[in-house]
Amino acid sequence: MHEPWLLAEVVLNVPLHSTFYYIIPKELQDQDIALKRVAVHFGRREDIGFVMRILKEEDVTTDLRDLKSVKEIESVLDAQPIFTSDLISLGETVAEYYHAPIGEVIFTMLPPLKEPKHFTNPYISDQKDFTPNEEQQQAFDIMKDSVGTASTFLLQGVTGSGKTEVYKLLARECLLKNKSSIILVPEIALTDQTLRRFSEEFGSNIALFHSKLSPAERSSEWLRVLKGDAKIVIGPRSAIFAPVKDLGLIILDEEHDPSYKAMDSPRYHARGVAFMRSKKEKALLLFGSATPSIESRYASDQGLITKIQLINRFNNIPLPEVQIVDLKEEKTGNTFLSETLFKKLVDTLAQQKQSLIFLNRRGYSPSLLCQDCGFFFKCPNCDIGMTWHKRDGKVKCRYCEFEDSAPNNCPECGGFNIKDVGHGTEKLEDSLQTLLPAARILRLDLDTAKKKNGSDKVLKAMRDHEADILVGTQMIAKGHDIANITLVGALFPEIMLSLPDFRASERTFSLLSQAIGRAGRRDTQGYAIIQTYLADHFAVQLAITQDYEQFYKQEIQIRKEFNYPPFVRMGRIVFRSTDENTLTQLNYHLKKYLKKEKSNFQAHQLEVLGPSPCPIERINNYYRYHILMKAKNHASMLRVIKFIYKLYKGFPSKDKIKIEIDVDPTQIL
Ligand SMILES: [Zn+2]
Ligand SMILES: [Zn+2]
Repeated sequence: MHEPWLLAEVVLNVPLHSTFYYIIPKELQDQDIALKRVAVHFGRREDIGFVMRILKEEDVTTDLRDLKSVKEIESVLDAQPIFTSDLISLGETVAEYYHAPIGEVIFTMLPPLKEPKHFTNPYISDQKDFTPNEEQQQAFDIMKDSVGTASTFLLQGVTGSGKTEVYKLLARECLLKNKSSIILVPEIALTDQTLRRFSEEFGSNIALFHSKLSPAERSSEWLRVLKGDAKIVIGPRSAIFAPVKDLGLIILDEEHDPSYKAMDSPRYHARGVAFMRSKKEKALLLFGSATPSIESRYASDQGLITKIQLINRFNNIPLPEVQIVDLKEEKTGNTFLSETLFKKLVDTLAQQKQSLIFLNRRGYSPSLLCQDCGFFFKCPNCDIGMTWHKRDGKVKCRYCEFEDSAPNNCPECGGFNIKDVGHGTEKLEDSLQTLLPAARILRLDLDTAKKKNGSDKVLKAMRDHEADILVGTQMIAKGHDIANITLVGALFPEIMLSLPDFRASERTFSLLSQAIGRAGRRDTQGYAIIQTYLADHFAVQLAITQDYEQFYKQEIQIRKEFNYPPFVRMGRIVFRSTDENTLTQLNYHLKKYLKKEKSNFQAHQLEVLGPSPCPIERINNYYRYHILMKAKNHASMLRVIKFIYKLYKGFPSKDKIKIEIDVDPTQIL
């Protein structure tokens, strides 16, 4: 018999759906090690664990089976707790909801903590007053008393209506109640703008959660929030896990944005997590958007979310005039720029105004083709064509890390007749520079944003009018407020519309509306041109007038007819392996059991499709199959996922196969 143990329930960053118990040795028992990181032995290696809670041996309900194998904690790594018990509870809910490994969830929530180094907010001294207009004040008045209560609102305001001012009023109210706020912004490039605007009012009360900060700066910001020294957190998706005290307000700006969904495990959606946090910690949750997600808008129709509208643009600036260039009628020639758009660009330059040209594809061209033998340059690891990046002299794969120097001749026939097919932002930049040699042209896409402060520099140059034309992908369409832009060109929305995704229309409408909304944001009438072969598509047509209501009416009908969210919940499980045979065997194994359940599934209004090959059958040398599920509600979805997970666990060669579980997937490639 041993003396009763004091045990720590520990999670490790491993893809397992369980926690682990370690004995707290005598010498560590006089300090509270809960919510701290510890060094432990796991299997044969040493690893960093995180202590969720401390339990007496008799309180442990899990079967500790072979008690002799319970190990001791080696050492404690933190002097102070680095987490809150509210966050533990949130992590457990997230893990359950997304059927994600609890350790992966907790370690996703935690930043990699280093020796902290103070982060200096560059905008702290820009104090400025603002006066809300009547509409903004009314929106605030409706929500004011709900700050600090579990309530959800949708602020639907046309582009340029000044949603940020409403956010600031709410954050101020929250501070007055001595509570904290979390402000989420979708795009890294937008964080800077939001930081600047909030700093004008809240100064050092702001903490920035941002992947561009160094790990030391991030640690410093994390600790400042944990201690309650900063009460307003601004950041992208992961800032929803900020360790704030007395949370009173959560804002998701541009709530429809796809970047709120995590693409790696745990595949959470910030909207979903924000909802959980709002309920648990009694915080007002506000979704802001000019083009709300169909799901959020539907929830407001159902009375689950209170909708508030801002219908006027700030200072009553009219919406841009929009013209469609139908490429079936007006040909573009080699430059793929229509005569209409080109003329307008020249005019805008002459008036010393700025233009923005939006093309949602980066690189020089999306593919290379040998004109002699038809050889098509594909990634050797993936089933997908490679993008040509002329600047780097490389061809690159969008799905794996593979890149190669751009070929001079065809690897198949040796010919030199290689042609680039299609166009990306690099090619657009080059063409424009050739056509308009005197224009100062900048480009913003993932490639230029990757450079240190890349996006901030480009946007600053635009704000300071050190550039005339900004070319870019969706990064330039979103939320930027640059006073002197009067012309927006949107090229080839069909690139977005042709994706095999039931949200393609929604995303296209939203990106087009936002891009168009960048034009004419101060005292000048804006102008926009959409250049497309699909001029009649309803997502394109309705973007002209930014008629969200009409778009929603049509889109929700389609969703209903084809049984897509919000009328069902979707789930997806991907199985991938470098060994195609084992994967085929797993498919037999799964199909056998799924077939037996067919009538049971039908009785519960469940649709289970597959396993079948993914649209991209191979990525990074992994062969891929998936199962798609549709269910009436989340609970029954989770039951099927757990059932399939169990089948996978029962497959003898499961170690050769990786599983990816995605609840509410946003893409199914
Ligand atoms: Zn060839
Ligand atoms: Zn690849």
